Amino acid sequence: MNGWRTIFLGDDNPWIFLAECALRTGLMFLIALVLFKVTGKKEVRQFSILELIVIIGLGSALSDPMIYTTSPVLPSVVAMAVTLLLYWAVNKWTNRAPRVEAMVEGAVTRVFFDGIVELKALDTEGMSPDEFFGELRALHVEHLGQVKAAYVEIDGKLSVFFHPDDEVRPGLPIAPEALAAGDASATPADGPVCCGRCGYTVVQGLAPSACPYCEHDSWVPAISFVRVA
Ligand SMILES: [Zn+2]
Repeated sequence: MNGWRTIFLGDDNPWIFLAECALRTGLMFLIALVLFKVTGKKEVRQFSILELIVIIGLGSALSDPMIYTTSPVLPSVVAMAVTLLLYWAVNKWTNRAPRVEAMVEGAVTRVFFDGIVELKALDTEGMSPDEFFGELRALHVEHLGQVKAAYVEIDGKLSVFFHPDDEVRPGLPIAPEALAAGDASATPADGPVCCGRCGYTVVQGLAPSACPYCEHDSWVPAISFVRVA
């Protein structure tokens, strides 16, 4: 019956190897969690990073014994069990402790307020200004003066609050062609100009050579239409 032992445990593995598998799985789970944290990703497609780790972990643990003679069944079963157990435990923990939740899943981040794109916050969310403008365009935003505040939620989605029509102010147009047309010599002579990266708006006087918020040096004439959804 050596054949069954080969299939379930492997020829050369002692039983204690199963405990080693549990430890290895725990380690890989932790490493994967840290790696995803480092990339700043909160979700990939529609999965949270926790769910993704479980899917990746279960996927390879499940398929290896199917096709590799060197991958016995029991270590995979242990790996899958430990993966699911850790998923359950971390989920339970984050549900009870808001601080742990913020650490594992991330917190809500404000990325736009008072007419200025908060570039550092955007960067920690792994979002470029162009991507941010793209998401706003998808919400029928034509310029930043229509937006009151924007937040990146825990699941990575953007939430946006708009100014009511009578409070819309002159702001940076976020159509790609308008952004590309910005230059360093624009002045507010014919109306306000905005920093082409963070949206800082100069209403009167000369535009500074570099934006005081982000040191960008391309200025784009502001527009002030109300939003048409
Ligand atoms: Zn700026």
